[in-house]
Amino acid sequence: MMTTRPNNGLLPIKQSLIALLFIAAACNKPSQSLPPQPVSQPVKLERPAQPAKNIVLMIGDGMGLSQISAGMIRNNNTLFLEQFPVVGLHKAYSSDNLITDSAAGATAFATGIKTYNGAIGVTADQNPAPTILEQAEERGMATGMVVTSTVVHATPAAFIAHVKDRNMYENIALGFLQTEIDLVIGGGSKYFNRRSDQRNIYGLLQEKGYYVSDFSIEPLTDIALDFTKNLAYFTSESDPPTVQQGRDYLVPASQLACNFLSRRSDKGFFLMIEGAQIDWAGHANNTSYMVSEMIEFDKAIGEVLKYAKEDGNTLIIVTGDHETGGFSINQGSTRDSIVAGYTTDYHTGTLIPVFAYGPGASLFSGIYENNSIYDRMCAAMGW
Ligand code: MG
Ligand code: MG
Ligand code: ZN
Repeated sequence: MMTTRPNNGLLPIKQSLIALLFIAAACNKPSQSLPPQPVSQPVKLERPAQPAKNIVLMIGDGMGLSQISAGMIRNNNTLFLEQFPVVGLHKAYSSDNLITDSAAGATAFATGIKTYNGAIGVTADQNPAPTILEQAEERGMATGMVVTSTVVHATPAAFIAHVKDRNMYENIALGFLQTEIDLVIGGGSKYFNRRSDQRNIYGLLQEKGYYVSDFSIEPLTDIALDFTKNLAYFTSESDPPTVQQGRDYLVPASQLACNFLSRRSDKGFFLMIEGAQIDWAGHANNTSYMVSEMIEFDKAIGEVLKYAKEDGNTLIIVTGDHETGGFSINQGSTRDSIVAGYTTDYHTGTLIPVFAYGPGASLFSGIYENNSIYDRMCAAMGW
């Protein structure tokens, strides 16, 4: 680039010092290492004429556009996601890193606040931030979570717990005693009944009136549902298996959750469903693993869509927290086999798609910050 440089580019010493002082004053933080601060003006969100009674937030962990594309290609060029009339994009970065992790990503969705990587339901200053699930409970709505990780893993944890570090699993499990969540289905029973502090959280949940069960007692689909009790069902001791290893509960559990929660309160429900292992496959750069998890997640989307179409009062939002793997579909790919490229075994910083269906869906068009998804969900319910 051509520029005029008086004094051969050298400033007189005094001016240099002033310039340095100015730079030092302007930068009380090392700004190069921090992500960009939100620059968009706060948007005045219109409350829809018909508010959503129920919200189902479906999070594909690590699900960017190329993961969705690969699932579509390998599923005869079609996904249930195509039935969503509204599409938007969110900016996924966290408060301390341009590349978010799942803890900060889920905390942004759950609380409306951008926080640091690793944070679970706490602000950047490590103060607890109320979550949309807790607020829905306070308003008398029914609440639930269905996940394909453990229920104490970062994404579900951010909706129910408030701890400074995502790895505090036994601590996060105690969050399930704080909020009367109506339904929880996912892995990780060992954090509840085989704890290092010997506390039996199964028993404590039962004392609170929960029906507590797990994979070692009965299959989920054998449970005779008791709509007068909250339900906690654990699908595995630690991480649930993959779809390829035979895990198959996400689709029936998503259907069960909608039906169960709709009977738990006449004030509506908030349900979070996570396809957790799209991310794990991305970390492993394992394309067939990722595609099978993606297609199963889409089948769960189809099940929830079926419910929402019959119900008419349910808003579904499908998004990812970030992309994982820098995954691309390269030249030589066919419908039958994808020639994959990966740039990393971690997350990337690309924009993430948001799909919305139902009352208030139009609130989710456009480009906005990830934490704005919380504000838009609140607006959709008329809060
Ligand atoms: Mg996750
Ligand atoms: Mg409840
Ligand atoms: Zn990840």
